[in-house]
Amino acid sequence: MNFDFTEEQLLLRKTVRNFVDKEIMPYIGEWDEKGEFHPEIIRRLATLGLMGVCIPEKYGGSGMDYNSLAIVCEELERGDTAFRTAVSVHTGLNSMTLLQWGTEEQKQTYLVPQAKGEKIGAFGLTEPNAGSDVAAMQSTAVKDGDYYILNGQKTWISLCDVADHFLVFAYTDKSKKHHGISAFIVERTMEGFSSKAIKGKLGIRAGNTGEIFFDHMKVPKENLLGEEGEGFKIAMSALDSGRFTVAAGACGLIMACLEASLTYCHERETFGKKIGEHQLVKQMLANMEAGLQMSRLLVYRAGELKNKGVRNTRETSLAKWQACDFANKAADDAVQIHGAYGYSNEYPVERYLRNSKAPVIYEGTREIHTIMQADYVLGYRKDKPLNKMLPAWPFEE
Ligand SMILES: Cc1cc2nc3c(=O)[nH]c(=O)nc-3n(C[C@H](O)[C@H](O)[C@H](O)COP(=O)(O)OP(=O)(O)OC[C@H]3O[C@@H](n4cnc5c(N)ncnc54)[C@H](O)[C@@H]3O)c2cc1C
Repeated sequence: MNFDFTEEQLLLRKTVRNFVDKEIMPYIGEWDEKGEFHPEIIRRLATLGLMGVCIPEKYGGSGMDYNSLAIVCEELERGDTAFRTAVSVHTGLNSMTLLQWGTEEQKQTYLVPQAKGEKIGAFGLTEPNAGSDVAAMQSTAVKDGDYYILNGQKTWISLCDVADHFLVFAYTDKSKKHHGISAFIVERTMEGFSSKAIKGKLGIRAGNTGEIFFDHMKVPKENLLGEEGEGFKIAMSALDSGRFTVAAGACGLIMACLEASLTYCHERETFGKKIGEHQLVKQMLANMEAGLQMSRLLVYRAGELKNKGVRNTRETSLAKWQACDFANKAADDAVQIHGAYGYSNEYPVERYLRNSKAPVIYEGTREIHTIMQADYVLGYRKDKPLNKMLPAWPFEE
């Protein structure tokens, strides 16, 4: 057990923090208010090698360990949830899944440009009638010679209008239920693909979220990821990577809540003293600190298991559930500490509260993770190693 960050990880944290302080913090209030997604931030993250942090160098990435990805997500979400979400879907849900399941040809074609940040990846699992209940999806893929013909619709897809590549899921054999779902790599430029943003979101307004549609979309058979029928397993393994990034990001949101609250506690006075001197305010600050430290331990433990190349569905689910709940509570308390001023966009904490809600819903709702954890302790749920695991770190050359 080693709780120390390496020199490289400390430098990485400093680099991302400086980037966030200079390139995101001064503008994010306005971007959020106007509902503007700024793709140039993604391009700049790519030039820093941050769109492929834990992808091996031979596939165009930075070759750092999985906890380095956690550090990036933590620091990005300190700036705003929208940019951490972009890294979560691009690297966590898409690129890491290609690394785990892709053929060498698929890795060269799709993973390499994604890891370099030249192409952006997204992930389409959710449908209008299939969120937690993935097997209720209706999208279909029918084999036709050298192609699959995809029909269907996905909703609440992050980066729907921005991504070049999408990892999507559809039934190749509905009669087999979970075992009849397959995974496909599709491109925005494929005929029959379209997308449309969702307006009026509670939070992550500086992000891009919406629907994608497949209308008799011809997908080459080489773009099947894994085998036919492995889609559900692939989707769940993708979530092991994505949830890890969400959990790490939640730590960043707690940091942001704590920073804003501490500043305000040193400024604001009531009843002749700084509000930080009131015991009930202290309690909220102490809870934020406890939530931050506990979440980090859970996140970095899950990352360490990834580094070892062992299955970590249980540990990642626990980290995601707890960190997102702690972040949601921290944001609620941060608004409370700011009183009426926290209720206006004069201070960032109202954005933190709005942003803290989606991570409690996406990549497994609070309720789904609660059930998973109960099933683990009851012994109803046990995980076996998958036939293909993410590579252990350090990566082989
Ligand atoms: C901002 C944002 C970005 C997103 N990005 C993506 C993306 O990039 N790609 C993607 O595929 N999806 C994405 N999603 C979708 C997200 O993953 C789903 O919303 C989520 O899985 C929940 O599905 P649902 O909304 O259909 O809720 P439902 O599954 O309908 O659940 C509704 C309620 O019922 C509860 N519930 C459901 N089943 C059970 C049960 N068995 N026991 C107890 N309670 C239960 C849920 O916890 C929830 O409270 C995004 C969502 C948001 C908000």
